[in-house]
Amino acid sequence: MKIVIIGGVAGGASAAARARRLNEDAEITVFERGPYPSFANCGLPYYVGGKIEARKKLLVAPIELLQKRHRLDVRVLCEVTSIDREAKQVSVHNLATGERYEKPYDKLILATGAASVQPSIPGGDGDRILGLRDLLDADRLHKLATSGAKRAVMLGAGFIGIEVAENLVRRNIDVTIVELADQILPPWDQEMVSPLQQHLSEKGIDLRLKDSIQQFEEDGDGLKVSLKSGDTLKADFAVVSVGVRPESRLAKAAGLECSDRGGVLTNSSMQTSDRDIYAVGDVVEVDDFVTKNQALIPLAGPANRQGRIAADHLSERSSAYRGTQGTSIVGFFDRTIAMTGQSEKGLRRQAIDYEKIYVHPADHAGYYPGANGLTLKLLFNPKTGLVLGAQCVGSTGIDKRIDVIAMAIQAGMTVFDLEEVELCYAPQFGSAKDPVNMAGFVAAGVVRGDHPVIHAKELAKSKMEPNSDLILDVRTPAEFDAGSIPGAMNIPVDELRERLNELPSGRNITVYCKVGMRGYLATRILLQNEFSAHNLSGGFTTWQHVVGNGKN
Ligand code: FAD
Repeated sequence: MKIVIIGGVAGGASAAARARRLNEDAEITVFERGPYPSFANCGLPYYVGGKIEARKKLLVAPIELLQKRHRLDVRVLCEVTSIDREAKQVSVHNLATGERYEKPYDKLILATGAASVQPSIPGGDGDRILGLRDLLDADRLHKLATSGAKRAVMLGAGFIGIEVAENLVRRNIDVTIVELADQILPPWDQEMVSPLQQHLSEKGIDLRLKDSIQQFEEDGDGLKVSLKSGDTLKADFAVVSVGVRPESRLAKAAGLECSDRGGVLTNSSMQTSDRDIYAVGDVVEVDDFVTKNQALIPLAGPANRQGRIAADHLSERSSAYRGTQGTSIVGFFDRTIAMTGQSEKGLRRQAIDYEKIYVHPADHAGYYPGANGLTLKLLFNPKTGLVLGAQCVGSTGIDKRIDVIAMAIQAGMTVFDLEEVELCYAPQFGSAKDPVNMAGFVAAGVVRGDHPVIHAKELAKSKMEPNSDLILDVRTPAEFDAGSIPGAMNIPVDELRERLNELPSGRNITVYCKVGMRGYLATRILLQNEFSAHNLSGGFTTWQHVVGNGKN
């Protein structure tokens, strides 16, 4: 069997190695347009910043290994320029020698990835304006970052933008990030990135949200960058990272079915509309695991798994892709943010019914040194409790919680299951009630109707209305005095039973504390004393993330 693979990095290299393991006699040829197969795209920002010192470490599977160990015919600097489906062959252009030739296939795998979106900005094609997709880009950026540059402007605050910004700060470069949206990291919900935005500022990054770049101009040895807001920035160089689009030109030209967004359409075995052609990785449209709607979710994990599935299927093994959950994580110095499944804004956009809760526990037992707080948001079906998504932000233990919930989503679990999951515990690693259990307890209580919740945005809005809720702060007077929701009255939870007569009957009461726990206890006391009450989910901490700092 002749297997041809176009693209030799994440999805392509995975498919090639798996195809070899299953077909010792197949002729497997990998065409890669760039100079290196199987390099670590995800490590590039850390090479720029010096965390990864040796460039060769980025070459995950060097060409010699692919050839020797896997007997793969890897042809770098070879671009496939067209696919002839009738003749079952591809046309190849050797970019090093100029040679052009045809290569026949029995099965073809498209793993051409994605291309950076290039916003059309006057002056945007200058030498000092870079992107970061491959090792050559990383080389250019590394050179600039280590040649005495003092100031950089980044366009785009997606995960690559944030990672590059961190690594430029590591090189003592002053960084300004310009982002069109009103938040960094668009896949996450706004209140979850708010602690990270604050950390960006603490690290000296000048974050310009709701702004864009209108023009780049050469300015001596550097750049003058004009913003839509009217400001002008000086920089030694700029990095543009505003997202990617599927690299599907070959597929479209060959008449393979693609979505309106340009992603190649496949079935769950990764076969395209031509059953002898598979497509994997950033170039394909995937089924969102939670909603089953189509989506473009360019991530390394899905690309690798899809590569294996395509190789399995063409080797006559039944293997099916389950869909993409969008499980992802970003680090910024000592802060981490991660998510899996649907975001709240995604659910709202798709008109999917959901409820949410927030918890703010420590990553491990508070009495053991080094415990750090985290914020975990859980999204679930309000009737069945099915887990729809989760996001977590903090310093340590963030990946662990989101990985556990990612598994729960894939297993179709509910918030009632999260109450019961048994996770590792010793004081330095977690808590006997892990944050995942805590989120399960709170969410399950909401589904069961034990403690109705209200959310910060709703509360902020309802405060403007006549007959609005009485807001009851059940923290200590010292906590209350240090900052509270405007208009709240204070009765500490420990005094509540004795002071119920101070509360007006017949008026709805919104209770809150620091993180939601004492608010929950107070809500239970009030409900059992015939008051109508609900608890502010995530307490004053979430209020601050959503609304800002309240003061009396
Ligand atoms: P790629 O790995 O991009 O490979 C596609 C290859 O196809 C390219 O090398 C290209 O040269 C080649 N090609 C295209 N057209 C042709 C042609 N006509 N002929 C021959 N060859 C062709 N994802 C994560 O999950 N976590 C991360 O931390 C993360 N960090 C990232 C950091 C950076 C800087 C970048 C750029 C990406 C990062 N990603 C991350 C995304 C991840 O790398 C991609 O989702 C993944 O590599 C996609 O795999 P792929 O095989 O579809 O495409």
